[in-house]
Amino acid sequence: MVKFVEAKTLKDKVDVSTIGFGTHFTDYMFEMTYDEGQGWHDAQIIPYEDIKVSPANATLHYGQAIFEGMKAFRQGKDVVIFRTKDHLNRLNNSARILDIPPIDVDLVYDALHQLITIEKDWVPAQRGQSLYIRPFIFADDPYLGVNVAKRYKFYIILSPVAAYYAHGFAPVKIMVEDHYVRATKGGLGEAKTPANYAASLHAGLEAHKHGFDQVLWLDGIQHKYIGEVGSMNILFKIDGKIVTPALDGTILNGVTRRTVLAVARDWGMDVEERAISIDELVEDYKNGKLEEVFGSGTAAVISPVGVLGYKGEEMVIGDGKVGPFAQKMFNYITGLQSGLEKDVHGFIDKVTSVD
Ligand SMILES: *Cc1c(COP(=O)(O)O)cnc(C)c1O
Repeated sequence: MVKFVEAKTLKDKVDVSTIGFGTHFTDYMFEMTYDEGQGWHDAQIIPYEDIKVSPANATLHYGQAIFEGMKAFRQGKDVVIFRTKDHLNRLNNSARILDIPPIDVDLVYDALHQLITIEKDWVPAQRGQSLYIRPFIFADDPYLGVNVAKRYKFYIILSPVAAYYAHGFAPVKIMVEDHYVRATKGGLGEAKTPANYAASLHAGLEAHKHGFDQVLWLDGIQHKYIGEVGSMNILFKIDGKIVTPALDGTILNGVTRRTVLAVARDWGMDVEERAISIDELVEDYKNGKLEEVFGSGTAAVISPVGVLGYKGEEMVIGDGKVGPFAQKMFNYITGLQSGLEKDVHGFIDKVTSVD
């Protein structure tokens, strides 16, 4: 049990169907501090409030920070989290890449359970709605020297979110990016770190101007091999097989990606994790072998791609409609999250029950 500081007043609960992503936060947050020589200390659950940092805060200037994103759901009276430890272990992998001291996964797991138990009434009950969980760590040294920091803060904040597809399951238009680069081998691509998002914003804005929703990144050296979408991993159904780029250090090891691959294998499908060139994809498209394209990530679960733009040409995938595999996988994973499917892999982490 971590220390609990009670709030003087609690907020009114919100109707999540009327709010955007990440706009409202619950009454409490988890906080823990790291100091060199002392390790992580002062783990506590405290009222959600603004935090104070020095204007010389190391993260504001040099960006030594990492985060996670996972979701809690209602399953009848139960509150569950999807693949908690996989997310916390990935936070430690990001920590390793950014030279941030690792967290004690068991301690944080227990603290998160305690926090969610306190905040259980904030977990929305309708299918597709969830309580988004955002753990994050940032360097907190108050000086401008460029160094690996000696002091860090770790928080977990919680935000109720609406169903991602409130207006139906809509395929997105993705532009294959052959100019800008998100990550290269030996870089930060495999870490969930703000730098990767900063590197992606400008290309995203340009894609929007051309009528696309997001970009699909290619490798940073040859602009040839497919990476990921930047907030989602990318998967293809090619000639009956599920094919996705291998984890080569430039893309995130998505928990949803892993879930999709495990379930596809359960369904007896061939799954390939390997390098895929954009030329191969264009070829498969022309030969009618490119059956489906979809993204995977915690926010949307599955995001079908209706159009892939590359060098000014548009490839319309499956008549621009949602593919049957993407639809079936979306139904299955969201069914698992809402308790309608049997949890054969132990992905569901039960936290507490509501009265
Ligand atoms: C979070 C994230 C994803 C999706 O990962 P999930 O674990 O499935 O949510 C993909 N790419 C990047 C860059 C991300 O930050």
